[in-house]
Order: sequence, then structure tokens, then C-alpha cells
Amino acid sequence: MNKAFYLETFGCQMNVVDSERIVDLLEGIGYAQVDAAEKADLVLLNTCSVRDKAERKVYGHLGRFKPIKDQRPELIIGVGGCVAQQEGEKMLEKISYLDLVFGTHNVHRLPELVLQVEEKRQRGSATEFLDRETRLNLFPQRSVRDNVTRFVTIMQGCDNFCSYCIVPHVRGREVSRPSAEIISEIESLVQQGVREVTLLGQNVNSYGIKDENELSFAELLRQVDAIQGLHRLRFATSHPKDMTDELIDCFGELDKLCAHIHLPVQSGSDRILEIMNRGYSSADYLRKVARLKAGDPRPGRAGRLC
Ligand code: SF4
Repeated sequence: MNKAFYLETFGCQMNVVDSERIVDLLEGIGYAQVDAAEKADLVLLNTCSVRDKAERKVYGHLGRFKPIKDQRPELIIGVGGCVAQQEGEKMLEKISYLDLVFGTHNVHRLPELVLQVEEKRQRGSATEFLDRETRLNLFPQRSVRDNVTRFVTIMQGCDNFCSYCIVPHVRGREVSRPSAEIISEIESLVQQGVREVTLLGQNVNSYGIKDENELSFAELLRQVDAIQGLHRLRFATSHPKDMTDELIDCFGELDKLCAHIHLPVQSGSDRILEIMNRGYSSADYLRKVARLKAGDPRPGRAGRLC
């Protein structure tokens, strides 16, 4: 009989994608997903640290599972995601009933950590940051389960260091996946019935800028738009300072690109934007929005982004 796992996911789309990987990895070692911790042999929280006091909330949340562990000491409890990355092994010291901790670069090590607890009752953590090459080799295909829409990660991490944000510290520096690999993943998803993809990254607009041989984000969008059988294309999330004219023009050029953009303003005050280290002014932001609204020259399509 299959062993059962229960998984709760908090936070952004990056964690949603990581949780999809977690499901695949656990199924690979004989676990099936269930909808309640009481039915599970393994309970995992995939955590987010963006909100204030996030760690405290995770510790509070884990407390819900303690009575189950008291009744069934063989229950395995684990924490992944950004709080796990931030807190590391400390979590094992603080919570006696926690068995494993895995960070944002170590989702692939989850089966090994689970088997270690199962076979040797040995608690473990994996929170080291990986180098660029290793990270680029760790973008496995995920199963498609009757999905018509899918997130496709095109980059990880962030180099912007906005003064209020923890992401560069818990997700690492920005790394872009090779475009050929992204195209091939989307072609394969389309063959399996997916009709809409959302290209995902902390700041997709800066896709490829660290690699002179790589496509720009606008060029990548054009190549994805040309994939036969794909109906809709979206992306998230964008940084206003990297929103180029070439990218804005894509909304006028590409039929599959939906009239939808997430462009965080953060503040209307230039003083606050500077303190936030955002790299643009309120006037820059408004100019880009005006350009986006005016951006589709084709008859009947003006105002797609109003
Ligand atoms: S660009 Fe976004 S993810 Fe990167 S540091 Fe700023 S707020 Fe955080």
C-alpha cells in the first residue's frame, strides 16, 4: 500500500511550482497525496517568508501537527521553502518533533531526506545554495495532470536587492534557463494538452541579460508565441525598470500574449522609491504605463491594456 503525504503551500507562484516538483518527487518514492494531515505518514509545509513574522507563523502552524505526532511518533514532519532557507538547521533545534528542513535550492534532495528519516530515524536538513551550473541542471519536467494551464519557470533568484525584500537572500542570485530548454518544455506541455503557459520568474523582464548569447525576454516571448497549439501566453512578474520598449511592443505584435500584466508600482513617492532601491521614479513608471496602454497599433486592438 502507498504511503501518504500531506502538503500545504504558502506564498508565490515559485512555491506553487516547487510544490508540483515535491508531489512528483514523493510519488517517485511511493507516496500518494492526501487532503488531511491526520491521514498522512508525511506532512510538509512549503513556506513563504515575505510577510512580517513569517517564521513565527510557521512555528505556530507546525504546532497543529504535534498532537498527531504525539499519537503516531512515526509521522514524518518537514518544512521547505523560504522560511526553511532562512532558518536552516536552527528549526530542528527549536522544534523537537520536526524531522527535516529543505531550502529553496534543495527540493531535489527531499526523497533522500525522507528515506533517511524512514530508514534510520535520522533527522536532516539541506539548505546550502547551489552554484549556477548545478541550478541550471535542476529544472526537471513536472507531470501534467489534466492541466490546460501551466507555470513554466524561466529564471530563478533576483539581483535587485530592493531594500525591503528577502527574496535575493532566500532564493539566491538571478539565473536564467537556456531558451532552447524552455521552448522544448513548452512544446512538450502543448503536446500533452496544455493550452496556456505563464512564464515565471522573480523578474522575468531581466531574463537573459547576464548571458550575451541568450535571447532577450522579448525574443523569448516571440519564440514561445510561435509554438503551434499554444493558445495563450502570460508572464509574471515584471520589474518596471526592466520594462523595455521592445517588450512593450510585444503586446501589439503577439497574438497569444494576453492583455494582462503585473507591474508592481510599490510607491508613488520618488523619495520612498529611492529608499526602496527600486531604480525608477514615479514619472518613469507612468511613462511606461502610458506606453503600454497606447502600445497596440492594430485596428480594433488599441486599449487592450487599458
Ligand atoms: S525585484 Fe522583486 S524579488 Fe527582487 S528584490 Fe525587488 S521586490 Fe524582491
